[in-house]
Amino acid sequence: MTPSAAFDVVVVGAGLGGLSVALRLADAGLSVGVMRKKRSTESSSAWAQGGIAAAIDVEDSPARHEADTLEAGAGLCRRSTVDFVVNEAPNAIRWLQDQGVEFTPAGPNHRGALHLTREGGHSRRRIVHAADATGKAVVTALEARVAEHDGIQFLDDRIGIDLITTGKQRIAGPNRCVGVYALNRTTGRVETIAARTIVLATGGASKIYLYTTNPDTSTGDGIAMAWRAGCRVANMEFVQFHPTCLFHPLAKSELISEAVRGEGGVLRLPDGRRFMDAHDPRGELAPRDIVARAIDAEMKRGGFDCVYLDISHKPAAEILEHFPNIARRLQTFGIDITRDPIPVVPAAHYSCGGVVTDLNAATDLRGLYAVGECTWTGLHGANRLASNSLLECVVFGAAASKRIVADMASAPPPAAHLAPWDESRVTDPDELVIVSHNWDELRRFMWDYVGIVRTNKRLARARHRVELLHEEIAEFYGNFRVTNDLIELRNLALVAELTILCAQSRQESRGLHCNRDYPETLPDSEARDTILIPGAAARMRA
Ligand SMILES: Cc1cc2nc3c(=O)[nH]c(=O)nc-3n(C[C@H](O)[C@H](O)[C@H](O)COP(=O)(O)OP(=O)(O)OC[C@H]3O[C@@H](n4cnc5c(N)ncnc54)[C@H](O)[C@@H]3O)c2cc1C
Repeated sequence: MTPSAAFDVVVVGAGLGGLSVALRLADAGLSVGVMRKKRSTESSSAWAQGGIAAAIDVEDSPARHEADTLEAGAGLCRRSTVDFVVNEAPNAIRWLQDQGVEFTPAGPNHRGALHLTREGGHSRRRIVHAADATGKAVVTALEARVAEHDGIQFLDDRIGIDLITTGKQRIAGPNRCVGVYALNRTTGRVETIAARTIVLATGGASKIYLYTTNPDTSTGDGIAMAWRAGCRVANMEFVQFHPTCLFHPLAKSELISEAVRGEGGVLRLPDGRRFMDAHDPRGELAPRDIVARAIDAEMKRGGFDCVYLDISHKPAAEILEHFPNIARRLQTFGIDITRDPIPVVPAAHYSCGGVVTDLNAATDLRGLYAVGECTWTGLHGANRLASNSLLECVVFGAAASKRIVADMASAPPPAAHLAPWDESRVTDPDELVIVSHNWDELRRFMWDYVGIVRTNKRLARARHRVELLHEEIAEFYGNFRVTNDLIELRNLALVAELTILCAQSRQESRGLHCNRDYPETLPDSEARDTILIPGAAARMRA
């Protein structure tokens, strides 16, 4: 069958990772299709508030940025990756400015200098930002550039289901990724899209948890697709929980930026007492996992629903200048941050693990690249340093495009014939309640059993539950036409399972992974990444 569309490159995902790689590829003259299941305003990138880390101040250096990243990473960062990223950071900022992103200037007489904030774990002020809505400014500027680019076509309202490989298509030659099946959410039909190269930029997987700061799009689709296509996945046990998400019955995923603590905000118990100094000498400026665990411990100890983040002791004008958007949004919930403490709880925020990639963003499968939060590059180790992730998107977007352009001459042309998605034995689903029930069940047991603090027993219980869910999902998947929710549920269950497998195989507590049955941290010389290999993990399950 002739594919419904063909491109040099299809980028699956249109957050900062996807948009930046697409622009660079199109600027190099390639035809690019950018697939997104929702508008880019519903991506983690667009929701980012704090900013992008780069050592651009005269008082700072890439070496200091590197040291802070390594310290946060708790002995598991890949040094070559950290070195590469921190040194490329100033170029990444310049590239974004060239695309029209307007960052907050240093002051009235700035002469081009940018204002820098400081966040937890950073020893210097090095966070480039656009007030407190950096992601929105970045995504808006890049989206505008993409929209006017002749070489790029948005494939909107489409959710990528599975990668198409020559191996599965029985096409001769070494196994290679040659396209993607995608559900067109408007027509309800599955399309076959051919490409010489595919880039996954589908973001993280925090929706496996009940409480998350992420948009609905973060269902780990790219990680699941790559795994099913035979790629290794690593370090999924390292999930970062943001310490301060608004606790309010009407708020869904309302994050309160770390910059609020960076600018002097303090954490208080419901009776007004501060508690962070008892947990870490850095107090509120300790890395976010320590702050999240401290809040979790205080909430469990005192039986509190939330704690409070308070910046009301600062001058109101200063607060409103630094945090205009947070102030405006919280006002809609009846909270005046210049006077009221903000009720907060921790929530799943960032997936440090993902598809294994090298410094060119190449995966294990020929013709398949991955950038952004769906990857494991080795940058974050056992814990991500704040504001390094938007940076990772831009730096690896550049690296991927450089390699893809260089390799394009040797990549085969888009396949003229690909087997269509097989719908011959399926009917329309009749019991969608099963899908929504399983979705809720998965997210709740992941929160309860594979959350901020883990135990062997809870992990074993979670693994048992996810295996049962797999059986039900497989039955549903085999008999009914796919829907958006079913595709996401299947991916969530797989990514949850990979997270549990990684957590079970780490017999220590390190960085973001805290297991009460293994409270010690092994010496760094014995620290290992948890790398899952598709066939081998399947055997682990048996
Ligand atoms: C509230 C919040 C604040 C943050 N603040 C910061 C910060 O200040 N600094 C920082 O460095 N990091 C921050 N982060 C983390 C950072 O925003 C993310 O790590 C980063 O934006 C990820 O970018 P991405 O391009 O990989 O994914 P996303 O930006 O999440 O984009 C994923 C894209 O993939 C699409 N997609 C997903 N699955 C499919 C599919 N199957 N088919 C088609 N399309 C698909 C989505 O629609 C979306 O377009 C924050 C995150 C959140 C949630």
